[in-house]
Order: sequence, then C-alpha cells, then structure tokens
Amino acid sequence: MSAENKEIRIALAGNPNVGKSTIFNLMTGLKQHTGNWAGKTVDNAEGVMRLKGKSYRIYDLPGTYSLLSHSYEEEIARDFLCFSKPDITIIICDAANLERNLNLALQILEITSDVILCLNLIDEADKRGIYTDSVKLTQILKIPVVEVCAKKKNSLLPLYKAIEEYKKNDNAFKPKYTRETESAINYTEKLLLPYLKRDIPPRTAALSLLGNGYTVRDELTKLCDVGNADAEKLRIEISKIKKAHTGLSDNIASCLILTAEGICNEVVSIRSTRACERDRKTDRIVTGRFTAIPVMLFLFILILWLTISGANYPSALLSEFFGFCEEKIYNFLIGINMNRDFVSLLCEGVFRTLSWVVSVMLPPMAIFFPLFTLLEDYGLLPRIAFNLDRCFRKCGACGKQALSLCMSLGCNACGVTGARIIDSRRERLIAIITASLVPCNGKFPTIISIISMFIICSVTAPFSSILSALSLAVVLVLAIFMTFLSSYFLSKTLLKGEQSSFIIEMPPYRKVQIGKTLVRSFIDRTLVILGRAVAVSAPAGLVIWLLANINVGDSSILSICTEFLDPFGRLLGLDGVIIFAFILGIPANEIVVPIIIMSYTAGGNLTDISDLYALKALLSDNGWTMLTAVNMVLFTLFHFPCSTTCITIYRETKSLKWTGAAIILPTVIGMGICLITTFIARLMGI
Ligand code: GDP
Repeated sequence: MSAENKEIRIALAGNPNVGKSTIFNLMTGLKQHTGNWAGKTVDNAEGVMRLKGKSYRIYDLPGTYSLLSHSYEEEIARDFLCFSKPDITIIICDAANLERNLNLALQILEITSDVILCLNLIDEADKRGIYTDSVKLTQILKIPVVEVCAKKKNSLLPLYKAIEEYKKNDNAFKPKYTRETESAINYTEKLLLPYLKRDIPPRTAALSLLGNGYTVRDELTKLCDVGNADAEKLRIEISKIKKAHTGLSDNIASCLILTAEGICNEVVSIRSTRACERDRKTDRIVTGRFTAIPVMLFLFILILWLTISGANYPSALLSEFFGFCEEKIYNFLIGINMNRDFVSLLCEGVFRTLSWVVSVMLPPMAIFFPLFTLLEDYGLLPRIAFNLDRCFRKCGACGKQALSLCMSLGCNACGVTGARIIDSRRERLIAIITASLVPCNGKFPTIISIISMFIICSVTAPFSSILSALSLAVVLVLAIFMTFLSSYFLSKTLLKGEQSSFIIEMPPYRKVQIGKTLVRSFIDRTLVILGRAVAVSAPAGLVIWLLANINVGDSSILSICTEFLDPFGRLLGLDGVIIFAFILGIPANEIVVPIIIMSYTAGGNLTDISDLYALKALLSDNGWTMLTAVNMVLFTLFHFPCSTTCITIYRETKSLKWTGAAIILPTVIGMGICLITTFIARLMGI
C-alpha cells in the first residue's frame, strides 16, 4: 500500500452512553450492540469506513469515565491509545454533560494531541437550553470540535469533514496540576526516562503510575523495559514519592475535575426552557428538603408492594406447572426402566432446584426490574444520588456512591463495576467494599420468601402484602444504614483521606418508552440474571442430592456436614443446615433456600414448594422460630459476597487485601447482628 493510500486508523473514545456505538455503526455500517448496562465488558470493536476514496479503520474503545483507575476497560482503552497509537482519536462527548465528559477528554489529551472532539446529543442539550460555544472550545483545547446528533440522518457530516481535513497536531491543550503534584510528576518522569518503552510519553507514564494507587509493579513492566531488580528499585522510589505527597492520586483527579469545570464555565451557557422549568418544578418535590426522603421511601415501598403482591400468583402457577412436569418426567423415566436412583437425582435434585429458582425468582424479577428501569430511565437515579449525597459526604465517602448502590440492588457485581464513576481511588474502594451490603437480586427472593412465609401465614390479606412490603422496606433501609456506617468506619480507619470535590449533574427527566423499557429490562436484566441462576442451580441441585444420598457410615455426607456446623449455627440463632446452605450458595445466593428445603426433606418428600403454609410447617418442624426467620433475613442481607462479586472486586481492585476486606466486612456485620438478636431474644426468653 502506498503512503497516500495508507489506511488511517481512528479510535473512538468516550464515556459510556454518549452514543459511541451509534456513531461507530453509522461510520462503519456495522451493527455493534448498543446497550446501557453499566460495566458491560466490551473489547475494541473494529470496522472500516471509506470516505472520498480513502480508507479509514475505526476502533470503538470501551466506554470509560477515566483512564486513571485501571479497571479492565480503562486498561484496554488506555493501552490502545498508548501502544497502538491511532492516527486520530475522536473523543465523543455528551453535549448536555460536557463537564463530566471533559474529564476523560483531558486525560486523553495527556496521551495524544491528535484528537477531534465530537459533541454528540446536541438535540438533548438543545432541549435543556444548554449551548456550547464550540469555536471557543476549539481555541481553548487547540483541537477541532464538531457538533453532531447521531440520531438524525446525515448528521455526521461535520465529523466526516473534520476527519478529511485533519492535520497532524502537536500543540493541544495539556492539563496543569498543583505545583506540588507537578514536581512529583516531573521527578517521576526523570526516573522513568531511561527505561520507558519506545513512544510512551514520559508524562503519560508518570501520571499513570502516580494517578492510581495499586498496580505500580504491573504498570512498570507494561510501560518500561525493566528487569526485576530495576522494576523493584523504581517501585520503591515511586512509593516514596507517593508517601511524600499524600493524596497524590486524589489530587490529580480533582485537578482534572476543576480544569473541566473552569473550561465549561467559559464555553457552556444555559438558558431556561419550558422543559427546564418543568424539570425544576418536579425537582422541587423529588429533591426538596422535606419531601425528598418521603418521596423516595414512598416510591420504594410502592415498587416492593407491586413486586410482592404481583409475584405471588404467577409464582404459584409456575410452581404448579413445574410440579406437574416433574411428575410426568418422573413417570416417563421410570416407565422406560431408567435406574430409580438416577431418576430421583434428576427429578428431585436437579429439576426441583431449577423449578424453585425459576418459579420463585422469575415473577418478582419480571416486575421489579422493569419498574426499577422505568424510574432509572425517567432520570430518578441521579436524584436519589443527590438526596443521599449529604449522608455519604458525612460518612467520608462520595455522593456518586449512591448510584453504584442503586446498581448493587440489581446485582452486587454491577454495583462494583458501577463504582468506576467515582474518580477518587479511596472513595471508589469504599464503594466497592460496601457494595455487597445491599441486597441484590439473588438475595431478594430469599428475603421475600422468608418474610412472606412468616408474615403472610400470620396476617390476613390484603394487609399481608402491605406488611411484607413494609418489612422489606425496613430491611432495605437497614442495608443502606449499614452502608453509611461501614463507609464512615472505613473512611476513618483503613481508607483515611481527603474528600474529593464533585458536582452531581441532574440530567433532564426523560419521557420513558414503556414498551422498549419492558423488553430491554426483561432481556438485559431479568433473563441474564435468571440464566446465571439457572446455570448455577442445576449443578448445585445435583451436588446437594448426592450429598444427601451418599452415606458415610450411618449418616449422609449432608447430615455430617450440617451437624458439624450446627453448634456454630445455633450460636447465631440459625442452624447447621442454614450455614451449610450459605456456604454451598457461594456461586449464587438464589440457591440458598432450595438447599435448605432439600436438606430438611432429604429423607422425605416435599410435594408443593409453592405452598407457603406447607413450607412454613416444614421449617417449623425443623426447629425454626420467629428468631430463626429474622436472623435468616439478616444473615441473607449481610454475609460474604457471591463468587461472581468476589471475582469482580478482585478484577476492579487488583488487590487480595481489598477483596478480603469486602468479604470480611459483610460477614462480620451479619454474624455480629445475629449474635446480638439471639442474645436479646434469649434474654427475653423468646
Ligand atoms: P455508547 O454507550 O456510548 O455506545 O452509547 P450508545 O450508542 O449505546 O447510545 C446510547 C443511547 O443514546 C442510545 O439509546 C442511542 O440511541 C442514544 N443516542 C445516541 N446518539 C444520540 C443523539 O445524538 N441524540 C439522542 N437523542 N440520542 C442519541
């Protein structure tokens, strides 16, 4: 290929949800999946665009908020920019949220000056009366700035024109840090200079090593050509610099935020529109001083009530259906002379656990997630973050933690990846370690079924479902309270440090597209999580059946294990079966209750798992009291995270120490609370 015809390589970078995939698809004619699921891991997608006879190779980098915290996606994006050196990097920004988006843009400008800034979602910004002076922005950043609306036909013309006319740039804007930070950066640059790999800008390498706190050794081997001894020497030197300049990584993050804020003050103007006025009125209620908490609680209880009361009937129907299928399958397999034990393993082990998980999980999830997604799409989540901001700040954490907390309600692992939106490493770690204090979707069915069993069976309808929703709300409030308390504890002990500055932007309230939301939340959330639960529950059913049916001496392995754990369980107001179920439930919390039921019915048979009265009777026969039920709910709420969450925490922190902390913290809280309730109950003679 001649130099003239050389393919030009273009990288698309940007925050999640700024229309990157939409623009990539328009440029390349491909159909890259556009999704909103935060933390979705995607590698670089690649496609070709032809423009006026020239060929361009387009790389869609994973959406990230920063390049400094070194999560998996951030590493992919940063490494691509550093090592693959695209000819042009197009930074796609949300024109309605320029300030937050500029944070990433400034970090990219540290790596390369060959950048085009593309302001997308101009229509949304316009609706909200947000106007960006792109000429002035071009002058400040010294790079081309174009405005587009990727949703409209032919709207990428300004971007194509900028690409065609692009000339190499060595002169783009570079952020400045405080004098102390600059001197640390300069010193580190000098240290690294003899070792740096070809083409890596020393300042980029220095910022990368100083800006994140926990992967220095890995980073060194990636950025430098060093042997083990030199790498260790450099690591020690860098640790010394970090010790001498406390809060260096927070300082770098807050300088970037302040620079972005300063630029936005110069180029962004906001005028009032009718949509703004309407939003302001709604905000006065949703975020008002006296109305915010009651409105939040009301919405929460309403969602929980709709979930509980709406889920009972379909749950029972599904369960009846599965019971019917089980019987037919059993009779059929026996009819074809299959070994009776094997049939029992398939039907009473694998199939029954699967039926429980699907019939108990599917209906509440199919109601809860769409409702939650509707509120999310409407724009309520940032408002909740705003309302909780003051509480999180008082606890030494970051208000954005409220957003990752909301994501944790769906799945703790998503909450952990969601913490990436927090720029300060210290505050991000607090959010990650406390993420599993919030009940996820795997814990909800257990909590709901125990509450329903012990309340619905004692109170008459319709009060039972209201009372259940209220009890669930109390459980959630307790989880949030514990998140505050633990964040406070961490910020005063293991994770002491300065609080970073940040401003919550309020996106506009968006009209929700009910049909699209229902389909999206069902496919993206309900089915994905149910699929994972089903994949785990089938082998779990098999293992538990084997444990219950293989004998060593006179007792089954299951009863040997549960008897061994029994004294410990009793101490916590539980029993050995429950503790064993939690241990076996490490792959997924959803299977804890089926394991308990199977263990209690190991000898006999439980015919109808949807009959709450029968279930309650079974549990009572096995020594359950109100105390056991309360402690079961509490221990479900606070115990070690599931294996997926643990792996995600390790991937995000790259530290066994913080992963260990995230496992120990909820477990200690759960055991502590159970010990206290048991002690009080015994004192009161219950
Ligand atoms: P990504 O996460 O950055 O890849 O963003 P997507 O391409 O998935 O876009 C997120 C959402 O924004 C999708 O629903 C798009 O249809 C929508 N979107 C993208 N560009 C625009 C735009 O210019 N205007 C409006 N109103 N919506 C847009």
